[in-house]
Amino acid sequence: MSRKTRSTAATIPQGNSLTGLEPRTLIELRQVLKVYETPAGGFTALKNVDLTVNAGEFVAVIGKSGSGKSTLINMITGIDRPTLGEVIIGNVPIHTLNEDQMAAWRGRSLGVIFQFFQLLPTLTVLENVMLPMELRQTYPPHERKERALQLLEIVDLADQAHKFPAAISGGQQQRVAIARALANDPDVLVGDEPTGSLDSKTADSIFQLFETLVSQGKTVLVVTHDRELAGRIPRVVFINDGEIADQYVAEALPLMTQQELAQVSSQLEPVQYGPGEVIVRQGDPADFFYIIIRGEANVYIDHPSGKEVKVGRLETGQYFGEMGLMEGGTRTATVRVPDDGELVAMQLDREHFTNLVSNSDLTRDQLLHLMRKRAMEIQVGEALPNLRTIEFRNLLLAAKAVTFSPGEVVFRQDDPADAFYIVVQGTAEVLMHQPGGQDAEVRKLEAGEFFGEAGLMEGGTRSATIRAGGDAELVTMRLSREDFTEMISSSAMTRDQIMEMMRTRAQMQGLSKKQSNPDS
Ligand code: ADP
Ligand code: MG
Repeated sequence: MSRKTRSTAATIPQGNSLTGLEPRTLIELRQVLKVYETPAGGFTALKNVDLTVNAGEFVAVIGKSGSGKSTLINMITGIDRPTLGEVIIGNVPIHTLNEDQMAAWRGRSLGVIFQFFQLLPTLTVLENVMLPMELRQTYPPHERKERALQLLEIVDLADQAHKFPAAISGGQQQRVAIARALANDPDVLVGDEPTGSLDSKTADSIFQLFETLVSQGKTVLVVTHDRELAGRIPRVVFINDGEIADQYVAEALPLMTQQELAQVSSQLEPVQYGPGEVIVRQGDPADFFYIIIRGEANVYIDHPSGKEVKVGRLETGQYFGEMGLMEGGTRTATVRVPDDGELVAMQLDREHFTNLVSNSDLTRDQLLHLMRKRAMEIQVGEALPNLRTIEFRNLLLAAKAVTFSPGEVVFRQDDPADAFYIVVQGTAEVLMHQPGGQDAEVRKLEAGEFFGEAGLMEGGTRSATIRAGGDAELVTMRLSREDFTEMISSSAMTRDQIMEMMRTRAQMQGLSKKQSNPDS
């Protein structure tokens, strides 16, 4: 071997896929459906999977046993074919190739690494690495040996070239298998649990080797069940029951860039909850942000009366937990799995969530927008805890958010009454005419309280003036007279609650009048 060749041995010889180019799609799965025929009928192992991998990416595929990882990998290696959908690698629609074409394509374009190495025991290490070149007639015969030695140099095994596989360790055998996978200089390396039968230290060194290959321009896709290793890989594709969870992450936070999505996906941790389980509890410190990838959950608030009020329902593809992380630091509501349901979510810890929010303006705006909407729902639930779910939904649909600047008057005493209001943000001051002719503030209303009921339920005119507090905007949910009437006629408990509050307020006003006018 010449000195010149040896000095370049640390990089992939004759590699043509270099870094520094525009992102280029290398692997694309479009709506891939895989149904296995079993005696018990069809079993769907992949459900309309879309996946795009760019040249030069390092991707980990994770998911629990039986989730479809191997099935997905087999679609990419062409070892198996989709029932429906397309698999395009480079520019080749590999699902359309016949067996001979497939073998020829795979031999040149793809390096496959298996969990159990699958070296030929009767060939030396060197011969194993030369074999793919011989099978595919890819390099001139006199160059093959030298190339194989260079590849063994990359995996740090040139000194073992003449041994048989049985004479070297498992980790070394896997390195040989990687050298063999690189023999025909494929753009893509694919491994199904390539470190699954290695101890963690050896697995680590194999991953470092993948990292080196990626830095030299290869695209690497590996299935692993080792979360720790997966966490070091720039992009993690999480498969759950034949579906790629990234799709739900993208759905939940659609304004993330591809890069942000890839980054966030690698930081997410799958968590599973059983029937009736509480995921977050109101008042607890906020630690994670969640994206639901399977199942649904209900949102409840603890009402001061001791009652639990349902204020929302969350479905697959929706997120929660942002409120506690973005403000306050404690949970503003309880999220619980229905008694007959199950839920799988991807959780993102506080630190990574904070990074996402501070790096992505669009995503932050999206989160803030929905957070305000949810905060309103929580305040409405707090104000009127006796509504049934359907009545609550109807109220949210009918109500309109109306905002008043600090100090602005909402309505004046003696005006005709036309609407009912719930305070969802800021404070409202209640002012009443005093015997001396002036108005005085008799009380303040906070978020979760309502006003305007008295004028609608009796008299028809306002019994007090309402003004936005001086410090901040007052945000209200406004319900027209018709919708208010509808609400109290459909919910007797709510009507009773409002009448009770009206009586309490009238008493308090009576008291405050007495206080300000001790002679009467
Ligand atoms: P993983 O690699 O994530 O453990 P697989 O892709 O091997 O999962 O399998 C996904 C699902 O498909 C499993 O439920 C498995 O039992 C089923 N499956 C895999 N291969 C076949 C097959 N040839 N015939 C029928 N069912 C299969
Ligand atoms: Mg598998």
